[in-house]
Amino acid sequence: MSTLEEEFDPLVVGRRIRELRTKKGMNLEVLARAIERAPSQVSAIENGKRAPQIQQLQKIANALGVTLNHLLSAEKLSERSANELEIERAQRSGLYASLGLPDAYIGKTVSNNILDIILGLQREVERLHLQRSATPEEARRANLELRKEMRRINNYFPDLEEEARNLLAKIDHTSGPLSERLTAELANELGFTLHYTQDLPASTRVITDEKHGRIYLPMRREGRDARTILLQALAGHVLKHEAPQDYGDYLSQRVLTNYLAGALLMPESSAVAFLQAAKTKCELSVEDLRDHFGVSYETAAHRFTNLATVHLDLPVHFLKVHESGAISKAYENDNVTFPSDVFGSVEGQIVCRNWSARRVFTIEDRFTPYYQYTDKPVGTYWCTSRIENSDQGQFSVSVGTKFETVKYFRGRASTTRYKSSCPDPSCCRHAPAELEDKWGGMIRPTPKLNSSLLAAIPQNGFLGIEHREVLEFLEGQRDSS
Ligand SMILES: [Zn+2]
Repeated sequence: MSTLEEEFDPLVVGRRIRELRTKKGMNLEVLARAIERAPSQVSAIENGKRAPQIQQLQKIANALGVTLNHLLSAEKLSERSANELEIERAQRSGLYASLGLPDAYIGKTVSNNILDIILGLQREVERLHLQRSATPEEARRANLELRKEMRRINNYFPDLEEEARNLLAKIDHTSGPLSERLTAELANELGFTLHYTQDLPASTRVITDEKHGRIYLPMRREGRDARTILLQALAGHVLKHEAPQDYGDYLSQRVLTNYLAGALLMPESSAVAFLQAAKTKCELSVEDLRDHFGVSYETAAHRFTNLATVHLDLPVHFLKVHESGAISKAYENDNVTFPSDVFGSVEGQIVCRNWSARRVFTIEDRFTPYYQYTDKPVGTYWCTSRIENSDQGQFSVSVGTKFETVKYFRGRASTTRYKSSCPDPSCCRHAPAELEDKWGGMIRPTPKLNSSLLAAIPQNGFLGIEHREVLEFLEGQRDSS
């Protein structure tokens, strides 16, 4: 097939043929006879329902007294034709089909006025649809789907484990922690040089310039693991992630890049060997995993959930909770029931005050691991929690399991035990009656305004990236290099 045929759009060419034919006062039958085809076939060509062969197009061009190039040219259609075309295109879309409306036939008798109205309504439906799909509702729905999927596969991605093995083989790394030097070596091996900069656009964490093989990273901040952010950027490159089209895309890309980064920092074979030895001794501990691989507690806790079910046969749960009590991340396959809204979303929901994830905030000793048993309506669970600091405040990171499987964990001897009957409001939501009696009606607290309460969708797209700033930043880098 010639590139010419691949490139032309049958809808546009069909319109142009009809335009030229009408201008010449030629009816369908005459054109059909001229190219030795049935009128119905010419009609199908004009409606863009059939892509004609080049020889056929040549005959049509001859009959209409124009060149083939003119027929295929990118020259603009008349306004009327362009409008008809836009309506026709929209009517072939999934969005139009989802409205359950009949197709409108736009014949010569439809006035320009009516055409403009149909077009205007159509564009507005598309705009509203796009806007709605960029709202937090859409993000929550996408996230829910993702969490279900991760539960189904026990939070374990064999393909990514293999990808990590292949990447580590490139730098001859077979076991143990991945040093900063080796991380940089991996970047070089993948064709990137590293550039630390003060003026990375505020809306970005890291920028990969695939064109020139450069990765721009923020200046290192005290206490931050420089490897993670770089590995996430490399993971995005290796997994060939395109700019995400919607929240669902974005969230799943984030899960995959974080997973791959974790699998590089804590290679499966050495991490599993380490954990299996600990299980045999009944000394499983997220702290030990963290210290062995030199990663953050959260990274270690997350990696533990990747490997615990598939390799150690232990169902687990993971919870990251803000100091306000709101859930920021959650995963479970041990049937612990997280608080959820009517749609099943758990992010942003408030955790019971009696759970380990909240109790740990009341403990002054932040060095010794915190362990707790909690009797919940669904059964007894054991949890270990630790507090980590961030720009957004303090978060507790918890890993837990069912009572039946706690025997493999260090901290099983804990005598700390709480009862939780949440979502029963009398568990911990309602204030005790004597406090209500004492204070009721006599207080007026002023709330902190939550900035997200009134926030509209960012003008610069759902991810909030300042595209212009990114391009200007990259231009500046090229100038100075
Ligand atoms: Zn409660």
